[in-house]
Amino acid sequence: MKGILKGMAAVVFGGMGCFITIVFVVVLAVVFAAAAVGNALPQPLQSMYFAWLLTGVPNQSDAVLPVGSSHIPFTGYDGPTGFVCAVPAQGATLTDCFGTPRVWGYHHGLDYGVPEGTPVTAPMSGIVTYAAFSPIGYGNLVVIENHGYQVLLAHNESVAVHVGQVVVAGQVIAYSGNTGNSTGPHLHFEVRRASEKGSEAMDPATVFLPGQTEACNWYHLVPANEYETKGCERFH
Ligand SMILES: [Zn+2]
Repeated sequence: MKGILKGMAAVVFGGMGCFITIVFVVVLAVVFAAAAVGNALPQPLQSMYFAWLLTGVPNQSDAVLPVGSSHIPFTGYDGPTGFVCAVPAQGATLTDCFGTPRVWGYHHGLDYGVPEGTPVTAPMSGIVTYAAFSPIGYGNLVVIENHGYQVLLAHNESVAVHVGQVVVAGQVIAYSGNTGNSTGPHLHFEVRRASEKGSEAMDPATVFLPGQTEACNWYHLVPANEYETKGCERFH
């Protein structure tokens, strides 16, 4: 028995076994150190940090949020409704769809490629609950809430509204840009619904926003070739 143990020890600690053991210990130490650093960070920096570790930014074109989370809490605002089925930025092309698999989760909205400075309009009426630079990758972000829904319009060059302002559908609320975790000028359009988990991202094309009476296919509002090129039909 002793002989067997000695033999095993020789394999583990001698020659190649020794090298593998050292590599294993070093990798383990790095993983623990990275996790310790992450755990010491406050939210939402922690989410960003772990997303970055797991996905390797900057290959993402957007903010990365854990499924079911939103850093903008719902206020419970129920106001006059209104809806416009139109691309929130004129002249846009579709550059990414809702549900595109990412290394870490999936894409929570639609991306419209659009020149910087293009006016961004509110798809629905509601109250502005966020209008500033977002620390978790959305860049200059405007959030509009109404009847348990939020629309997020992200990566803007500048915002044109303020928190607490009631806006109507079609109103200019920002100017598009390339701010935050963004790899090119584009508008990120995201719809969230209040849920037991706090908030969940929805496919805008399948949602009826407050004031909306007919389906609005946000993918078909832009040239068909862009839609097909991006392969969004796989998800719709
Ligand atoms: Zn996006």
